[in-house]
Amino acid sequence: MAIKIAVPKEEAPGERRVALVPEVAGKLVRQGHAVAVESGAGVGAHYLDDAYEKVGAQLVERRTELLGGAQIVLKVQPPTEDEIDALPEGAVLIGFMYPHRYPERVAKMRDKKLTVFAMELVPRITRAQAMDALSSQATVAGYKAALIAADTIDRFLPMLTTAAGTIRPAQVLVLGAGVAGLQAIATAKRLGAVVSAYDVRRAAGEQVRSLGAKFLELEIDAEAEGGYARELTEEEKAKERAMVEEAIVAADIVITTANIPGRRAPILVTKDMVERMKPGSVIVDLAAESGGNCEVTQPGETVQVGDVRVVGPLNLPSALAVHASEMYAKNLHNFLELILTEEGGLELDWDDEILAGSVLVHDGEIKHAPTRELVEGGAA
Ligand code: NAD
Repeated sequence: MAIKIAVPKEEAPGERRVALVPEVAGKLVRQGHAVAVESGAGVGAHYLDDAYEKVGAQLVERRTELLGGAQIVLKVQPPTEDEIDALPEGAVLIGFMYPHRYPERVAKMRDKKLTVFAMELVPRITRAQAMDALSSQATVAGYKAALIAADTIDRFLPMLTTAAGTIRPAQVLVLGAGVAGLQAIATAKRLGAVVSAYDVRRAAGEQVRSLGAKFLELEIDAEAEGGYARELTEEEKAKERAMVEEAIVAADIVITTANIPGRRAPILVTKDMVERMKPGSVIVDLAAESGGNCEVTQPGETVQVGDVRVVGPLNLPSALAVHASEMYAKNLHNFLELILTEEGGLELDWDDEILAGSVLVHDGEIKHAPTRELVEGGAA
């Protein structure tokens, strides 16, 4: 029995990634599944139609036909209302869902009795590492953030000894040393900058130092359940600001990546601090999408404050669509292994903590409690 797996072209503005790359589509075909891909789905990431055909995937021109016959649909971005309409009742949908941004779509998926897995809800446990799309995409974003900073600033990053004199290396400060921050540190180091970093989780210090960067120590440890950061108290925030401010003012480049899951990103760089930075300095705010770590950040824009530029890029993984798609497709394939049986069937084992943790909607119910509260006002 072949499971019908469908991959539509992403429609969100600026989204160039595709949920399945030909290599992974071929693996699923070899496992006996029927993979159908919307014509042109991979073009934004340079995976052309013939590459999918070569590995045995079927190309479909009409999206309604593609989705109407699907048992499993793989997406990068949340489905549009039209996509939800086109899906058959009971279909399994897997992708990033951002339920707080699209509560009305969650309600629609519930009413359609879809089974929806949100990749951002996959628990951060060791067994789920190979499915951790938050990490794979944050790796891409962190790398790209360092390159944007290097490209924006009007000076060298490395130290240079030349006949025309010695150039001092740039000072890069990374705020938030999670997956994206560590990748930004590693990339800035490779470019020759002198890098320092700060995170409220003291455990991040070891990782920062292992990359050859300096870790700014504060008398605060805000690691909460699951390795994530908790929100700081007002007093802690004031202490943090004073220490971080000194480092910000000394830096040529500041890359901010601080996030608190499900909440607005914390403000770490105030307008006042930006005004005190050196002329020509650059801030790249990776948290722009969730409100920004810098007070003046405008999502999707570059703001100039005095002689400092503040870049607020959106959807950086899409800018490296080739590898972001490849890594994401591998995450999805590993996730699919949990629900596809050896005999080529589809089985949902709700005792599996990865499935139970990442299910958003199933059988007419919103399973993720915070989303249920948001959509249904707390009613079960
Ligand atoms: P994230 O994107 O949620 O946040 C980025 C970083 O910002 C985090 O390191 C966080 O501590 C930091 N931060 C939050 N508030 C801050 C503040 N006020 N000042 C400075 N920094 C602040 O984080 P992430 O990259 O998704 O990673 C979160 C945690 O999960 C990390 O500990 C990471 O190592 C862990 N993780 C575990 C696994 C696994 O075990 N499978 C996989 C990936 C990540």
